[in-house]
Amino acid sequence: MNETQQKFVDYLKVLGHYRRAIILMMWDMYTATPEQGYDGMAETQTFFSSRHFELSTASEWKQLLEEMKKPENYDDLNAGLKYTVDHLSRELLRDERIPKDFFEASVALSNKSMRAWEKAKKSSDFSIFAPFLDQMITMVKERSAYTDPGKDPYEVLVNEYEEGMDTAAIDRVFGELKDGLLPLLDRILAAKQPESKIYEGTYDPDAQKKVQKLLLEYIGFNFEAGTTAESEHPFTEGFSRHDVRVTNHYYEHDPISAMFSAIHEGGHAILGQNVAPELEGTAADDCRYLGIHESQSRFFENILGRRKSFWLPIYDKVQELLPDLKEISLDEFVAEVNHVKNSLIRTEADEVTYCLHIILRYEIEQEIFRGNVPIESLPALWNEKMESYLHITPPDDASGVLQDMHWSDGSFGYFPTYLLGTIYDGMFLEAMEKDLGDIDALLEAGKVKDITHWLNENIHQYGCLRKPNEVIEKVCGQPLSAKPILKYFEKKYTEVYNLI
Ligand code: ZN
Repeated sequence: MNETQQKFVDYLKVLGHYRRAIILMMWDMYTATPEQGYDGMAETQTFFSSRHFELSTASEWKQLLEEMKKPENYDDLNAGLKYTVDHLSRELLRDERIPKDFFEASVALSNKSMRAWEKAKKSSDFSIFAPFLDQMITMVKERSAYTDPGKDPYEVLVNEYEEGMDTAAIDRVFGELKDGLLPLLDRILAAKQPESKIYEGTYDPDAQKKVQKLLLEYIGFNFEAGTTAESEHPFTEGFSRHDVRVTNHYYEHDPISAMFSAIHEGGHAILGQNVAPELEGTAADDCRYLGIHESQSRFFENILGRRKSFWLPIYDKVQELLPDLKEISLDEFVAEVNHVKNSLIRTEADEVTYCLHIILRYEIEQEIFRGNVPIESLPALWNEKMESYLHITPPDDASGVLQDMHWSDGSFGYFPTYLLGTIYDGMFLEAMEKDLGDIDALLEAGKVKDITHWLNENIHQYGCLRKPNEVIEKVCGQPLSAKPILKYFEKKYTEVYNLI
């Protein structure tokens, strides 16, 4: 390593120390900080975030990045460091275009907007949030005019969460999926629905934690490089491949929620734990593409976790830990976790209707950014689409347009990544079955880790090095398509619901 390269790597390490401290404080605030300590911890986190921002925009760092782009410094770097130079240079360039006073005003507006959304949701009154949503949309458009002049703001946003993706591709696959799912959903809803006594039982949270440990170990989460904690909403946080943490929330009368959250977050964590060692400490050491990340959590949660074959080797152990589950046969359990309901809330939706919840949000976001819909008409537009896709109308704004926080902090373009993850999963499943044979046979034999290993080899080890479209191309050998996931839904729900 030459002198410039050494300087670059040393500086990167310092930035990494700050980053780790900031994430640690965030982890602590969500899992352990007592109520009265929260403000103090938040203040310290803000302090460290500002120092990190100063360091990552300092002229010394900027010069170093410029130097690193020269062939004598760049050409012999490993792939992770090359990615780091490219990615951070691009980010710096975009950040520099944002005027300081605009940046400060947008942070202040975001905070006000999030508070207004909370208040609006509590009183189920969209008119409280509407003026702030209007300002957030204007702000986000203005920001994109600074960072990516001349580009369509919604495309810029979509690209921020899933690099290389655009609305033309999303329109195509979401359209394909919607056309196939709407008639399938109507057939499912007309069929006989399962009945289960599962929610009549009582499930000790400590026992649920043991079930979580069993499930995480089963799917290949490494407890020597990971840990668990409790929080209001489950999430995953990674510090490095040696330290990836997941949280969960336990409900006394609902064992399913924590089980599937454990499998979902476990999927995110397994990705983080299996990035190639040589990427450690670089900007490529986790996957920043939200659709790809979500595809991994959902592959474990839905594609594997909702199959009878997944539970066959372990269901009796789960019943031992949660005695009230002994009343529920494996078939009843599997029917319940595949129960398709046309419900109001996205986060509680089953894997079929979930797709339509996302399509609805994506279509509305596009209308907003094309300027086709006045803000005050959003609740009506929302309800109209709910009626048309799921045949139900939210009784109030809280269970309709106000249910998600994403728009309150300006995260437009985030929603489609959830469904892209599911669409990728259909393609990954097809590619995997070509390599490994029948997935149910593997699962029945207790070989779920063979599947995990396939995902490690084909997807996880690359971290950020392959962009989403490249992952699809390399793993599946064909362009993005919703056909495989549709085929999966058709086959599975024809069986589950005995559809003719
Ligand atoms: Zn997730």
